[in-house]
Amino acid sequence: MNKETNEIRLSEIEYKILQILKTDARTPASQIAKQLGISRVTVSRAIESLKNKGIKFSVNFVEKDLVGIITSDSCLSEECFKTITGDYVSLVRADSVEELEKSLENHNIKNIIIAHHLGKRIVKSALYCDYCGGKIESEPIIYKRGKKIYYTCCKACLDGLKRKIDFNIKNK
Ligand SMILES: [Zn+2]
Repeated sequence: MNKETNEIRLSEIEYKILQILKTDARTPASQIAKQLGISRVTVSRAIESLKNKGIKFSVNFVEKDLVGIITSDSCLSEECFKTITGDYVSLVRADSVEELEKSLENHNIKNIIIAHHLGKRIVKSALYCDYCGGKIESEPIIYKRGKKIYYTCCKACLDGLKRKIDFNIKNK
């Protein structure tokens, strides 16, 4: 399968906005603008762009790559079907087989199929550290302060950022 067709590429701003909308799809644009320290117009444009890319803002948004199709005697996720024979087939999503197995502990599993999700996957473009400006290579350290959300690349930058904010508040 062509890699291009099953990826949705997001800009840094679009990615950050999506993280907020995933938690609460009804967050007003004005609030997002405040949280990310950008203008309302930028937020509105990015949301429009996300919609054009086919992104739906719901908590159930599919971001995990691995899908377990599990037959058991109970519902294991919100995506659950009851078969004619009375079994339940649930779709359980995870990032890895280990994570999937862990979520199935303590359940009476009759059958399991593990597959890769072939729907469109979110691919974020580079995130940049709000302190040093460097590209964030691994998982960002997200810092919420008041109404604002900051992204940093490492513990040192997080500490630096905290100091900088404290300094700015003191000298206002
Ligand atoms: Zn940094």
